[in-house]
Amino acid sequence: MNQPAMPPAIEWNIQKVLEWTTTHFKSHQIDSPRITAEVLLAHALRFKRIDLYLRYDQPLSAGELAAFKELVRRRLRHEPVAYITGQKEFWSLNFAVSPAVLIPRPDTECLVEAALAFLPKAEASNSKRILELGTGSGAIIAVLALERPGHVFFALEKSRAAIGQAQANCIALGVGDTIHLFCSDWFAALKQSMRPFDLILSNPPYIARGDISSLSPEITDFEPRLALDGDLDGLSALRQIIYSAPQWLKPGGKLLLEIGFDQGPAVEEIARQCREYDQTACLKDYGGRDRVMSLTRV
Ligand code: GLN
Repeated sequence: MNQPAMPPAIEWNIQKVLEWTTTHFKSHQIDSPRITAEVLLAHALRFKRIDLYLRYDQPLSAGELAAFKELVRRRLRHEPVAYITGQKEFWSLNFAVSPAVLIPRPDTECLVEAALAFLPKAEASNSKRILELGTGSGAIIAVLALERPGHVFFALEKSRAAIGQAQANCIALGVGDTIHLFCSDWFAALKQSMRPFDLILSNPPYIARGDISSLSPEITDFEPRLALDGDLDGLSALRQIIYSAPQWLKPGGKLLLEIGFDQGPAVEEIARQCREYDQTACLKDYGGRDRVMSLTRV
């Protein structure tokens, strides 16, 4: 796609650029056109969004305009705003994200809430061991480490590029020293000496392979396949984790898994066939859809 064709004769100040871009995004069916224009312009100018309004009449230099147009062009090609700006808010915290990691979703706060409900505030006598599988940006484990300091946190991730991102986020949030990060294909690199865990949790890939191409281009063309593709039926990673977790969990320990809104019954059936769990519960997200499967090891 060519550079967006902004009328050249006008002197472009912040107000005019925002108005033009909002209309342009709207006509290209880009979500939240005004906010997107503001976020991208603020990023191009290295401002906070509020600063745009404090300097509404400020003209843009040719260089600033060119930098902004490049961001608009990327968004028109459906690149997610979070990859363009390199950051995403989750749990009211800022996480650095690159195309090596799935962009944290608000739905995943449901998984974090379930984990927090299970984890007491740590005291010397009740320190728990927590393991996250497929940590990606590190958002989930970092929030848990911040909200429940004093427990022992482990996070595994298969992608080396993602591990780097998770590490940078954990350090930036001040929990780099309390989270043990390892490169591992699910449980493969775990050592027996690290067990047992009180809580294992994951937001694994759970989209059926055949459904991926029907998702929005923001997801299909930009987010890592590794974090989305749950094989033919979407349940492959969930099945593998459900069958492997019991040997790493304490009796009475908890496995929390994010799932697709229509996967609750199938995941419950997998857990039943596994015979290692005695309680299952399906928790709903803010939209009232099944989102997290909670399994308790016998
Ligand atoms: N919730 C994500 C989506 O629908 C999928 C994340 C995943 O597979 N873990 O885009």
